[in-house]
Order: sequence, then C-alpha cells, then structure tokens
Amino acid sequence: MRRFVDFHTHSSASDGDAAPDELVRLAEAKRLRAIALTDHDTIGGLASAAAAARGLTVRLVSGIEISARWPEGTLHIVALGFDPWNATLRGMLQALWAARKERNPRIVRRLREQGIDISMDEVKRFAAGRAGAATGFVGRLQIAQVLVRKGCARDVGDAFARYVGMGGSAYVDKERLAPAQAFAGIRAAGGVSVLAHPPQLNYGNLARLRQIAGDLREQGLDGIEAYHPDHSPQETRHYLDLARAIGLLVSGGSDFHGQGKPDVRLGCPAVPVEAVQPLLARLGL
Ligand code: AMP
Ligand code: ZN
Ligand code: FE
Ligand code: FE
Repeated sequence: MRRFVDFHTHSSASDGDAAPDELVRLAEAKRLRAIALTDHDTIGGLASAAAAARGLTVRLVSGIEISARWPEGTLHIVALGFDPWNATLRGMLQALWAARKERNPRIVRRLREQGIDISMDEVKRFAAGRAGAATGFVGRLQIAQVLVRKGCARDVGDAFARYVGMGGSAYVDKERLAPAQAFAGIRAAGGVSVLAHPPQLNYGNLARLRQIAGDLREQGLDGIEAYHPDHSPQETRHYLDLARAIGLLVSGGSDFHGQGKPDVRLGCPAVPVEAVQPLLARLGL
C-alpha cells in the first residue's frame, strides 16, 4: 500500500528543472500514492504530466500555485483538483500571465538602465531552451540565471540580492490577485484552495495566524499546508491542530524545484495519507 503523497511540486513549466513527465515518473519511482503538479501561475505542464501518469500507479492531481496580495509577507495559494478547462479559471490565469508579461520587460529595462547588456529576447530564448519548458514561462529566476551566465552575478542568490529580489536595484513588483479573487476562481473550477507555507505570511504569533486563517476561510480558503520542508516539526504540529480547530483540510508537499533548491527532494517531508485523508476524499482519491 502506498502511504505518502506530495501536493506541492514545480516543473520546468515554471521554475523547476524537471520536465512535468519526468516529475511524474520520479513520483512513481518513489512509490508515492499521489502527486500534484503546482507550477507558479501556469497549468501548462499538466497535459504532459497527465499523459505520463496514464498507466502508472501514482495518481496525478491538477494543481497551480498562485501569489495573492499580502502586504505583510507572502501569501501563496496552492490550488488542487480543479478542472483545467474551466473558463473562469482560465480567464483568471490569463490575467496572471498578462501581469508577468508586463513585468518582465520592466525588470529588463531597469537592468539596462544600470548599464547591463541584457535583452528580453535573450531572456526568452534562455527560458525556452530549458528541458520540457514548452509553456513560454519567464520569471525572475530565469532573468537571474541569465545575469549569472553573463557574469553579472556570482550565483542566483546574488542576482536576487543585488538586482531582481525585493530591495534589489531592478526589483519590480508584480500585480497580484486579492485572496478572495483567487479562491473564487479556484472554487468555480471545482478546486480546493490551500494556504501554502504559512510561515511566509510573517504572521507573528499563533493566535494571529488563527485569526488570519479564519478570515481567509471566510473568504473561500479550504485548507492549510501543514507539511513543508521549511516547517519545524513543532510548526507542523501547530498547523495540524489549527486545521482541526477551525475546520480546514490538511495538505502538504515538498515544494520540489530540482537543482534550484538542491536540498529539497521529491516526497520530503513525507506526507502520510492518514493526515490528508479528508483532502484525498474531497479530491476523489
Ligand atoms: P517570480 O514568480 O517571477 O516573481 O519569481 C519568483 C521565483 O524566483 C521563486 O519562485 C523562486 O524560484 C525564485 N526566487 C525568489 N527569491 C529567490 C532568491 N532569493 N534566491 C533564489 N531564487 C529566488
Ligand atoms: Zn518556485
Ligand atoms: Fe510558494
Ligand atoms: Fe512552491
């Protein structure tokens, strides 16, 4: 009996480096019960992941990770189990895509203003040249990688610190959805909304998190990620308790990105099926 799932992963359809189909085969090799592909702002990897999952034992759950407005920190919503063809959802994703397309050239322009010889064409070519990257996804990671290749930064971390990260000299903020808008789009498509890696909210203390999670639940949030490599065992316990106390589904995953986060392995931390049973039932698994 397969005992674990991984409901937070990234492929080369966004900023991971395993192709979507490779990721599914890796999940099968690790004998996971189910895996969700949750690329940033795109469902472009789902079709090839689904094709790879046919005939395998591992179950594939449709997914996406969306950044919502949260001035105090970072609010990432992992959506699971939606209909990828839903028109409301597709409209919402198109808006996210448009926001990215508007932002990237502004970052590149700011870099050029600082005397760096870089062009949007060059970044697009680099992004499209990655294995399995058929979606045309371009984000700050790819811009950072180009900066490294040009010798303008030591490594990706340095490129973020000095240029494209928040506080960097070429930082440009991205237009984000309000949390309620994201929840509504996900629900319209029959999906479940999960609060990803709660520590990134900068919630302060647990009482405040409880307040925030309760408020988000009123707005349409369905679940909380209790298992994530950034969580201490104590945090995981707190989030499990919180889910039970206020009636949220429990989820979790590795946030696998491949070499971009070399310490993170697919399927780690282990997310036991018993812990996510109500979610599995909701997803029809
Ligand atoms: P974007 O979605 O275009 O805003 O890019 C965000 C992505 O950039 C994240 O998902 C990470 O993959 C990457 N990233 C953000 N901050 C850093 C950092 N300090 N070092 C390396 N990669 C980062
Ligand atoms: Zn990412
Ligand atoms: Fe995230
Ligand atoms: Fe993620």
